[in-house]
Amino acid sequence: MNKKGILIVLSGPSGAGKGTICKALLEKADFCLSVSATTRHPRAGEVEGKNYYFLTRDDFKERIKKDDFLEYAEVYGNYYGTPRGSVLEAIENGKDVILEIDIQGALKVKESYPGGVFIFILPPSMEELRNRIIQRGSETPESLMTRFVSAYQEINYVSKYNYAVVNDTVEEAVRKIESIIAAEKCRVDRIKEDILDSKEGLIHEQLYD
Ligand code: 5GP
Repeated sequence: MNKKGILIVLSGPSGAGKGTICKALLEKADFCLSVSATTRHPRAGEVEGKNYYFLTRDDFKERIKKDDFLEYAEVYGNYYGTPRGSVLEAIENGKDVILEIDIQGALKVKESYPGGVFIFILPPSMEELRNRIIQRGSETPESLMTRFVSAYQEINYVSKYNYAVVNDTVEEAVRKIESIIAAEKCRVDRIKEDILDSKEGLIHEQLYD
């Protein structure tokens, strides 16, 4: 009945487990994950067009000028941006699209696309957050500290979101997110026009067909 897809924005501090949750969500249901563009260098195993579109700073700035991004932000010295065209097209085609983006980006999307569902992923504790950032193994001591300090500050932004999900276990967090999405799809403000249209269609069929 609901023709357009839903925009689901998952964000939260680095190390909260957004990436793992996203992967698990994509395995379970027919979501479409938006692939961001970034100026950071690929990590081992990352694939162009699957994990990110890796761009030079000049290319990225060119795309900013062309207004190609739904949002973009500078995160830890690199640009990251969500391609506008592919996201809006997928939503128009009835796909539910997930953005896994940082908090600055999520807040920008909220301004331009308030119909999105904004979900904040929280770590079970700050200690666990620190351990997860360390386990990732890709951080220098300085960048580890930067990520940890900004995570500490970013948690204050939880109040700007619609939902907060604590990532105790991935299975439980995914279950909660699926429930949130199922509930969002039943919201009257999303589907009332479709309900009324189909009611009118049925009456028309009964009277004239
Ligand atoms: P990483 O370098 O670890 O892949 O990502 C660093 C941060 O950038 C993460 O918090 C991630 O969610 C965020 N990020 C990834 N893609 C985008 C995007 O398109 N826009 C914004 N604003 N943040 C992004």
